[in-house]
Amino acid sequence: MLKETLEEIKNKIKISALKSGRSYKDIILVAVTKRVSVNKIKEIISLGINNLGESYLQEAEEKVALFPEANWHFIGHLQKNKVKKIIDLFNLIHSVDSWEILKKINQEAEKKNKKQPVLLEVNIARERSKFGFFKKEVIPLLKSGADFKNISFYGLMAYPPLCQNPNDNRPYFKEIYQLFLEINAYKFYNWEGKYLSMGTSNDFEIAVSEGSNLVRLGRILFGERNK
Ligand SMILES: *Cc1c(COP(=O)(O)O)cnc(C)c1O
Repeated sequence: MLKETLEEIKNKIKISALKSGRSYKDIILVAVTKRVSVNKIKEIISLGINNLGESYLQEAEEKVALFPEANWHFIGHLQKNKVKKIIDLFNLIHSVDSWEILKKINQEAEKKNKKQPVLLEVNIARERSKFGFFKKEVIPLLKSGADFKNISFYGLMAYPPLCQNPNDNRPYFKEIYQLFLEINAYKFYNWEGKYLSMGTSNDFEIAVSEGSNLVRLGRILFGERNK
């Protein structure tokens, strides 16, 4: 069943990618495995998905140990005291949402003599309940990129409101894509501009058709999560 679901999703991604002049291979599908059983993770890996996303460190530790060959993405809210472990376990951190956390990641990465790939989370709808930088804060931050020698800025991440009609988020996706292009046009220190992470089960088709190249899919692959 997972196999058929995955095929359907890939097809939808392909169609959406074409709408923005790209192809399926330009888009990365991250399977969000929070509260998903080990058996299902095994299955999705056997189907060729190698990018996996987790939101909670405690839950992720065991899974990363079981599937160390996967490419692990941290997509949850970061706490300072967990940063050290997170940079050990995760290839890419999507959810960098404050200067404080960025400084902490830089410090810990320096100790390990590595460069940590991160995305800056943008709170595009300026929601009080959500984390992330406001749009106008992103460019000033990147102008100080040289203060963060052990960070590689791989791109941006956004998580717009959950709405009845995913089309309502289209303007937000457009806005972030414009910001991404604008940043790419500058040559900021340590800015790689590889990924624009937007789109979940609810709205990935819209996100990809508006320029996202990385989608984070949980429920649509694995079904509703247990609480
Ligand atoms: C849980 C989560 C997802 C996946 O959401 P689904 O609705 O299950 O596709 C994507 N992004 C973030 C940041 C999440 O926390």
